[in-house]
Amino acid sequence: MSESKNMKLFSLSDILNHHLEEEELGRSKSRLEGGIVAEFPRVTEASAITQDGEIFGRCLRSVYYRMKNFLMPNPFTKKSIRTMNMGTHCENYDQEILSQLGILITSNDQFQGINPLQPEQMIRGEIDSLISFPKDELLKYSSVYTFDNTVEESNPKIIIEHKSSYGYYFERDVVGTKTINGEPASQYMLQISIYLDQYGKIKEISDIIMGKLYYISRGDCIQKEYDIMLLGKDKRVFYAEHPCAGKYQSFTPQFIPFHNLKMNDIYKRYAQLHDYLKKNELPPRDFIPIYDASTISDKFAAGKISKTKYRMWEKGKISDLGDIQCGWCPFRKYCLKNINKESK
Ligand code: SF4
Repeated sequence: MSESKNMKLFSLSDILNHHLEEEELGRSKSRLEGGIVAEFPRVTEASAITQDGEIFGRCLRSVYYRMKNFLMPNPFTKKSIRTMNMGTHCENYDQEILSQLGILITSNDQFQGINPLQPEQMIRGEIDSLISFPKDELLKYSSVYTFDNTVEESNPKIIIEHKSSYGYYFERDVVGTKTINGEPASQYMLQISIYLDQYGKIKEISDIIMGKLYYISRGDCIQKEYDIMLLGKDKRVFYAEHPCAGKYQSFTPQFIPFHNLKMNDIYKRYAQLHDYLKKNELPPRDFIPIYDASTISDKFAAGKISKTKYRMWEKGKISDLGDIQCGWCPFRKYCLKNINKESK
């Protein structure tokens, strides 16, 4: 093996990535050939505009494109496919442990909820895990601030949504820092709130006392949890943060409202989507694919664009700064086309 100049390096990454891409191509082809227009939206496509005017979750326009079976001009990349699959592996791993402990009632259970504001509209969902503990056992593993002796059910149940993530923003925003409390991601809060409101009713399962967003870091495997409840007549969404062992710094030991979000804020948006679909009318954009110069300056001043990105934009090295949701959106090309048409 002394001669190395003619050696070819076999790339395992290439062969794996090629397979992933071929698979995805096949899936998007069959989606197209099938020509299936989706009848109902998914729980993962939830969104809401709160009373305070904050917008959370999926862009109505992107859900419209998906449901009307528009071709995805920006299909999933090998990195995004791999990221999604890694998330599934993490979830399966924890479900296996829950099952070994004998507390997993069901996993990946599909259901169809109903929008109370638009009873013609079903909402398709799938919970990750449902677990149950005898009450004494539950209290043994519970922190006093999130869970007290007021639990009356003898076999309380908890819906779990497993999430995995990594990186600087996850550590800062979800786990929290010495000075800033962590907060669960808004799209997951929408998801679990719908499960809490609908799943038990549809499946006739009682004693579901709360939901839990359980995060694991794919980097250093730290865990972070949030307990979720719907409280009051108007089903306001509340959450409580758990400390994160070895990492945790600042936190509030109680249930607090999540941005004044109520269940009706979520159902209202589904009902709006229903109307747009019925009328075959494209909903307005909820996000901005490309900012104009004054928006960039404002966002930079408000600390919403990093210094590095701003400097690169100033030097003309990047020209398409926009909302993060548009960066991931598989229908971005349609939106940009429409912007170009609108500006002519
Ligand atoms: S590019 Fe942005 S505004 Fe357009 S559909 Fe996608 S998320 Fe919505």
